[in-house]
Amino acid sequence: MAENPQSFCPTGLTLPRPVDTHVHLSLGGDPQDNARLHLAAGVAAVRDAGDRDGCLKGVTWPEPLRVIRTGPALFKAGFYGAFLGDNRDLSLVEKIASAPDGFVKVLLTGLVSFDEYGKVGPRQWSREELREIVRLAAAAGRKVMVHVNSDAACRDAVKAGVSSLEHGYFIAPDTLKMMADQGVFWTPTVAAMANQVDDPGGRFTREQIQIIKRNYKRHLEMIAYACELGVKLTIGTDSGSYNVPHGVSYLREMELFVEAGIGTPEVLRIAALNGRELLNLPPGPLLTVDRGCQPAEFLEISRKSMLQKRHGSK
Ligand SMILES: [Zn+2]
Repeated sequence: MAENPQSFCPTGLTLPRPVDTHVHLSLGGDPQDNARLHLAAGVAAVRDAGDRDGCLKGVTWPEPLRVIRTGPALFKAGFYGAFLGDNRDLSLVEKIASAPDGFVKVLLTGLVSFDEYGKVGPRQWSREELREIVRLAAAAGRKVMVHVNSDAACRDAVKAGVSSLEHGYFIAPDTLKMMADQGVFWTPTVAAMANQVDDPGGRFTREQIQIIKRNYKRHLEMIAYACELGVKLTIGTDSGSYNVPHGVSYLREMELFVEAGIGTPEVLRIAALNGRELLNLPPGPLLTVDRGCQPAEFLEISRKSMLQKRHGSK
């Protein structure tokens, strides 16, 4: 795709190319193929949120995609996350030091239950342990991104000083206010929930789909409220997880932000700027969104699709 910061269409938008702040390149196919799909979708950089025992180490990524790896996630033996976690016999300090690109991924809770609304898989780290991880990470020059669901755990994570909350199902408005005040980023990964409603694999019962719907509808409400409060939202897809394909899910996540009631220009701003701020990436390269100006296809499509939805047509 051509990059031309000079070209600016009067009717177009010129934005930095967006980034996906939460992917799993080691899941859902060959890592290099997965990376190509992100690049083809128009994304400039992705943050990989956990590769089992560092299985992505040494992989050559397709240019010009920037891949930021957390390395293996910190989880406790016997709890959720061995498939993307650190199973090595190392100390916490050693594990944190092995995170290659400035971010440590911590699994604080399990997954959201599809059988009982509001239920979340067990907590892995106590409040004190999480604080200690954040402290050790900071001492090693790393920030913490935390997989977390349930409001109590989200609140503890914010108080512990993490950089970003990932997922954050059942977060409460007051916790969002704390996040806005403290500048904590939120990657809600709502497509990973909403996509399950379609259930192409026939994996879920009708009752489970009702719970899934309730989960994601509530999540959309919190996303809209977070935006209103000024929480730094980012677009992260959780792609590679079940029913969340690499690349195209970026558009899906953006569309869901629009479904939440956030205006299209704001969603584009979130996509273009907030992820870069979280990942500490420079503002460029620019991309111009317009048919006549070498568009990145995903943004052109997303803009059209989102505008159509806002005007009530399909
Ligand atoms: Zn994930």
